[in-house]
Amino acid sequence: MHFLIEEFGLLTGWLIAAGAIFLRYALFAGLAFTFFYIIKKKAFSSVRIQEKYPRISHILVEVRHSAYTALIFSLMGVGLYFLREAGYTRIYTGISPYGWSYLPFSFLLLVFLHDTYFYWIHRLMHHPKLFRIFHRVHHLSHNPTPWASLSFHPLEAFVEIAIVPIIAFLIPFHPLVLLLFATWSLMWNVIGHLGYELFPRGFVRHPVFRWFNTSTHHNMHHLRSGCNYGLYFNLWDTWMGTNHPEYRKTFDRIKERKIVDG
Ligand SMILES: [Zn+2]
Ligand SMILES: [Zn+2]
Repeated sequence: MHFLIEEFGLLTGWLIAAGAIFLRYALFAGLAFTFFYIIKKKAFSSVRIQEKYPRISHILVEVRHSAYTALIFSLMGVGLYFLREAGYTRIYTGISPYGWSYLPFSFLLLVFLHDTYFYWIHRLMHHPKLFRIFHRVHHLSHNPTPWASLSFHPLEAFVEIAIVPIIAFLIPFHPLVLLLFATWSLMWNVIGHLGYELFPRGFVRHPVFRWFNTSTHHNMHHLRSGCNYGLYFNLWDTWMGTNHPEYRKTFDRIKERKIVDG
């Protein structure tokens, strides 16, 4: 962002960054959609979470809202640029200030902080007074596709991306770690909205893997609401008792279906 604004000015820099965010989204969502919904649609039909397929007109709504989200996300990048110029962030360049080992550590820290942040803002946005204003747009998708990954109301997009200035204020991180984190986050969002369960049988009962969320987990959130709020990990949903009571059984049923269908 720093480079874009210095090189092209504020407005063009903002738009180029928004274009890049949208293209990355289109690449990830587009590849997943082409593979699972077109090329291998039949082969993967047994692990489809909801058997129906959403209408194209609805997918276009998801894409349109994601384009607005890209504009908001890059606007936050512009804000971050000014915060950094004013000396309010702990973003650093070069390796020497914290060493190589800090890079993976700071990445994991970002992921865990984001997981906690997401769970709580997500629960908050489900409050009846806030839901319609912030979160209703995302829940227009009852049967989400990868294109729903960034389909938010602009106000929700703002709340979602606010994690970046918060962590930039709190902990030191390298811009490359932020880029990796943003890519990881998008990838996980594509998995959450995939509509197919790809994790293997027994995943949700494994002593380690049970703490990771699955496509089924977030798909059930879109279908029923009021449960399964988490993003990457199943920590907060477990601790707060907000996993859907049928979550693990639903996962098992989908994976058993694969064996029955051959
Ligand atoms: Zn929700
Ligand atoms: Zn969702």
